[in-house]
Amino acid sequence: MLVVMRDHASQDEIQHVVDLLQEAGAQAHLSGGEIKTIIGVIGDREIVYSLELQGLPGVEEVIRVLKPYKLVSRDFKAEDTVVRIGPHAVVGAGDIAVIAGPCSVESEEQMAKTAAAVKAAGATMLRGGAYKPRTSPYAFQGLGLEGLKMLRAAADEHDLPVVTEVLDVRDAQTVAEWADVLQVGARNMQNFMMLDELGKMGKPVLMKRGLSATIEEVLSAAEYILKGGNRDLILCERGIRTFETYTRNTLDLSGVAALRQLTHLPVLVDPSHATGRRELVGVMCRAGLVAGADGVMVEVHPDPEHAKCDGPQSLTPDGFSELMESLRPLIELQGLRLGWT
Ligand code: PEP
Ligand code: MN
Repeated sequence: MLVVMRDHASQDEIQHVVDLLQEAGAQAHLSGGEIKTIIGVIGDREIVYSLELQGLPGVEEVIRVLKPYKLVSRDFKAEDTVVRIGPHAVVGAGDIAVIAGPCSVESEEQMAKTAAAVKAAGATMLRGGAYKPRTSPYAFQGLGLEGLKMLRAAADEHDLPVVTEVLDVRDAQTVAEWADVLQVGARNMQNFMMLDELGKMGKPVLMKRGLSATIEEVLSAAEYILKGGNRDLILCERGIRTFETYTRNTLDLSGVAALRQLTHLPVLVDPSHATGRRELVGVMCRAGLVAGADGVMVEVHPDPEHAKCDGPQSLTPDGFSELMESLRPLIELQGLRLGWT
C-alpha cells in the first residue's frame, strides 16, 4: 500500500501516519521529495487495510497495491479449475458447459418438454428458477419447493444435473437437497452472508456477475466462496448496466476475456439476460466462446409467448437446437469439447 501525503504535509502529519503504521506492526518506508512525501507500507494486508488512513490530516490518497483477492487468482493457481457436476457434466479446462432451461419453473409439463428438448439437442445441464428475484413484488415469484421438485424430476428423467438459484440464504439447505449447482443471482452477488454460507457447503456454485459489479468486485465476491473451503465455483457474465437500452444489459465480452486471464475459475456467458432478445442470443453465445468463455447459459421455453417470465429472450426448443448445431463446429474449431463424459 502507498500513502501519498499532500503537498507540503507537515513533519507531524507524516510522523503521525508512520506511528499508526508501526503500532499496527507494519513497516513504513518514506520517500520524501521537496514537496511531496510518499510512504510505502509493508505489512499484513488485512491489518494495514483496516487502518482508516484516508481521512487523516495531511493524507492525500491511499493506494492499495495488493489485490483484494487471492485464492481465485491465477497467481495463486495457474491451471484452470475443473468443476464436475454429477457423474457426467464437467466445466473448465476445455470442457464447455451448456446450461439450458426456462427462466422459471412453471409446471410439470413445461419442465418435461423443456428437459427432453434440451437434452436431445445436447445441453449438459438443466436450469430453471423456483425462487425468482423479481423487480416487482407483484410479478410471479416462482413455485418454491414445488418448483424444485418438478425441476429435479424432469432432470432425472433425462439424466441432467440441475442448476437453480438460491434467492435467500435461509433456503440454501433446501435448494441443496434438490439441486446439483447452487446459483447466486446477479442481485445477490454481494450478499456476503450468502456467499459465506455457500462457501461452507459441499455443492458447486454458479455465481453471476452483479448488475453493476466491477471485475474486481466479482473476484472479491468469488473469494468469499473459496475462502470458506468450496473450490467448485463457476462464474457467469450476464450483462452489465450501461446507457444502452436496446438490449436489456450489455454482455461484457472483454470482461470475460479479462476474467479468464485473472482467475483460474470457469467463466460462462448468459446472453439471454444480457441481451433480453431471443434473436441476439445465438450470436452472443458464439462471441462468448470466442472470447474464451467455458460455456453458456441460455433460457429455453416450449412456449415463450406464454412464459411467466422472460419470454422475449427465451429460445424455442427448435431455436435451441439450431444454436447447438452452430456451437458444435465452433467448439471443435477452438480445440474444446462439450463438457459431458
Ligand atoms: C436467472 O438466471 O434466472 C436470473 C435471474 O439471472 P440474473 O441473476 O443474472 O438476473
Ligand atoms: Mn430469466
